[in-house]
Amino acid sequence: MGILLRDVRLPERGATSFWVRIRADRIDGVSSEPLAPDAGDEIVDAGGKLAISGFVNAHTHLPMVLLRGLADDVPLEEWLERHVWPVERKLSPEDVYWCTLLALAEAVRGGTVAVADMYFHTDRVAQAVEESGVRALLSYGMIARSMSEGGEKELRTTERIAATWQGAAGGRIGVAVSPHSTYTCGEDVWGAAKELAQERGLRIHTHVSESRREVATVRAQTGGSPPEYLERLGVFEVPVLAAHCVHVSPSDLDLLGRGGVAVAHCPKSNSKLGSGLAPVAAMRARGIRVALGTDGAASNNRLDMIEELRAAWLLARGPSEDPRALSAKDAVLMATEEGRVALGLPPARLQPGDAADIVLLSLDGVHTTPAREGTSTIAFASQSSDVTDVLVAGQWLMRDGRLLTIDEERVQSEVGRLLRRHTN
Ligand SMILES: [Zn+2]
Repeated sequence: MGILLRDVRLPERGATSFWVRIRADRIDGVSSEPLAPDAGDEIVDAGGKLAISGFVNAHTHLPMVLLRGLADDVPLEEWLERHVWPVERKLSPEDVYWCTLLALAEAVRGGTVAVADMYFHTDRVAQAVEESGVRALLSYGMIARSMSEGGEKELRTTERIAATWQGAAGGRIGVAVSPHSTYTCGEDVWGAAKELAQERGLRIHTHVSESRREVATVRAQTGGSPPEYLERLGVFEVPVLAAHCVHVSPSDLDLLGRGGVAVAHCPKSNSKLGSGLAPVAAMRARGIRVALGTDGAASNNRLDMIEELRAAWLLARGPSEDPRALSAKDAVLMATEEGRVALGLPPARLQPGDAADIVLLSLDGVHTTPAREGTSTIAFASQSSDVTDVLVAGQWLMRDGRLLTIDEERVQSEVGRLLRRHTN
């Protein structure tokens, strides 16, 4: 049994009405002529909605939704040390499970089909991801000065998580190795992390050059910038997903480019924390792959990819005084296909053979009328509440605005309960 979508619009294809046929987890046909259903196919009349490849949130910490709105107006280091880490130290695996489900409910409602998450109590994050039906590149955030000061244990945790979850949930879940950053992990920890990633064929997901202070600290400790240090340690020999890359010099960009590093640009988080703006146009001009991430909800405060891609193109254009710095099409690509490559996911370009990770967006709102062209409507006018239906690997996660895999009422009441516990 498959799914036959009728009367959908496609980005870049004007007002033409299309049929899309889905078999198992893939798209089997796309045509402006009626496609024939097979016996038992579910036929869905999309009524002229826009069908797009679902969004990929390439850097987040899902359970941090619990910290949404906590200390909104302080700088990064103070925010982490005085506000975030004290709460996180008290989180139980159960807390992390419910918070992950809350985050995923928001993500799916906004059309996100895949996330790259870095956190702890990773088994419970993975359990929530498996139940929700989204795709994810999961990792345990390792923090250790050296292998003898906790690094051994952190690495063993990562090894166990990789053995348990890599390829789980029918291939929807992948695992990355995540030394948290160059300022929170020592040299031998980075060396061991790289070896583990190499041995198991895994990616490394980390934070790079987020703040000016971080770069100064790493330079004082290692004699180089974070990209220079990682290059010297040979980390770029494995595929790397690097969040932020805000304070990077032209020679850092050369290293990232040569190393094939994918950047997860987080414009809202970097702006909220006053960290600065990544040089996205310069990165893309050098052929560096740039995906988009929300970062954790505590520094955003949303997990809303439409809002994120809008922030990306506005902040690429305004400060540079260059309206060509980032096009609507590029911003949408960063939020979708670029993210898929960065996470190692199969392509989903709405063509036969590609993954059936499809989001339907209503174009009927007063704020999207007239919707002349799909891509520019998403970038300039749509909002996450326009998302009505979400399909991942051929499975419905949301139909007509209703989540099918997450019990939102239950999740909100559980999170409400644990919030009372953490504030008492
Ligand atoms: Zn982060």
